[in-house]
Amino acid sequence: MKKIQMVDLQSQYQQIKETVDNSIQEVLNSSTYINGPAVQKFQADLENYLNVKHVIPCANGTDALQIAMMALGLEQGDEIITADFTFAATVEVIALLKLTPVLVDVDAKTFNIDIEALKKAITPKTKAIVPVHLFGQVANMAAVMEIAKEHNLFVIEDNAQAIGADYTFEDGTTQKAGTIGNVGTTSFFPSKNLGCYGDGGAIFTNDDALAHTIRGIVNHGMYERYYHDVVGVNSRLDSIQAGVLQAKLPNLDEYCDARRNAARFYNNALANNPNIITPSAKSNKTKNCNAICDVCDCHVFHQYTLQITNGKRDELHKHLLENGIPNAIYYPVALHSQKAYSDAKYKEEDFPVTNNLIKTVISLPMHTELDNEQLDFITKTIIGFLK
Ligand SMILES: *Cc1c(COP(=O)(O)O)cnc(C)c1O
Repeated sequence: MKKIQMVDLQSQYQQIKETVDNSIQEVLNSSTYINGPAVQKFQADLENYLNVKHVIPCANGTDALQIAMMALGLEQGDEIITADFTFAATVEVIALLKLTPVLVDVDAKTFNIDIEALKKAITPKTKAIVPVHLFGQVANMAAVMEIAKEHNLFVIEDNAQAIGADYTFEDGTTQKAGTIGNVGTTSFFPSKNLGCYGDGGAIFTNDDALAHTIRGIVNHGMYERYYHDVVGVNSRLDSIQAGVLQAKLPNLDEYCDARRNAARFYNNALANNPNIITPSAKSNKTKNCNAICDVCDCHVFHQYTLQITNGKRDELHKHLLENGIPNAIYYPVALHSQKAYSDAKYKEEDFPVTNNLIKTVISLPMHTELDNEQLDFITKTIIGFLK
């Protein structure tokens, strides 16, 4: 059996080596390392793939969030609501910009922002909602957009984990994750679903004026060379990374399918164990993404995350490692309990789901190169331990 890895970037590279190598070589031949043709080409390809008017590449997914918030003109004291159960980057940029983060609990099945908690958190100071499409599953965007419209709030989708996912509205129309709100952001960190070989990120929007503002902000606030109209940053996707991404983008749908296939294997093998809750198990291919989805298009399985309900999560974590099965606890601490983000305004009883998830979740190996022999070994080892 091939060695099991949490993310197998080497095996994936071997499959696409020639295309990627040629793409990097082209950048080297052109020697245009910043904003070269590879960046322009990738930007256009991604706009086309996402069916969005503007993709603005930048240096990483954290910058993408920060720049999106800067471009919306949010000001000190504005409250930004986001999920308590996510990677810290989301809340970090809110705090960094001296905006006020308001963390709310998540849904027990999808781990995404809880709609009732979101509604409860809205005050006259609320200016924006940041739904995070956690582990590759699109948040309940129909509800988020409705609330945003009602209260006149911006929606910034943190799509670092769900690029390629499709969200289907009740009327049957579909939009790509990250293109539904006012603005969407993503990360091309190597282990993300569309990863480059270094750091990278992008911002998406259908709003022409906002896109213009963002293009200036990523480039020191310049709209005309050496005229700085607003305070900006320096955040660029370099041409070599764009070359890698340009070579990989045509495979993204195939990569999403490979992840869904692995998820389907896990779901089937682990379905009937009373100590395991498989991710958001329910109907397949639902037309209404407010419903819980199993292995449907609205989930691209950035992570495959189980809940272990018999209190043996930490023991399972160790047991799997001892058997050569990498696994991870995403995330072991709720954001509202982190030293940097704790605040007297938070009450423990407002976070029952997150406080439970941090004790029960475990993420299994998930990438595009898992084979059935590996999946069989992983699932049998889990069942053997939890029987
Ligand atoms: C990875 C990630 C980010 C940050 O992306 P970087 O490219 O590492 O800066 C932001 N939000 C979420 C949810 C992520 O998973």
